[in-house]
Amino acid sequence: MAVKILDTCINCAACIDECPTEAIVDEDDNPTGEEIYYVYEDKCVECVGHFDTPACAEACPTEECIVWGEPKEGMTLHPDRGEAGSDVVED
Ligand code: SF4
Ligand code: SF4
Repeated sequence: MAVKILDTCINCAACIDECPTEAIVDEDDNPTGEEIYYVYEDKCVECVGHFDTPACAEACPTEECIVWGEPKEGMTLHPDRGEAGSDVVED
């Protein structure tokens, strides 16, 4: 699966350049039409092979904004990922 950006996103752009797979788009390119940043789940590899912790979530200043998505077969999953919907970077 991937990580997911919730509607608490403040469009600050801190995450987008941190992503090693260019999986993140801004509010103008969000395919859902929501005015927030968006992660393409087919591009997100949960930073496996790049960083120990998802770089987008490390960079995000907003608490509980980037969460783990639903795991799906065939997708790269982080070995330490939490439950779907839980914060990627816990305090
Ligand atoms: S977890 Fe890593 S690969 Fe996925 S969107 Fe965030 S920075 Fe990109
Ligand atoms: S860093 Fe967090 S608040 Fe900023 S644009 Fe990315 S998801 Fe939104």
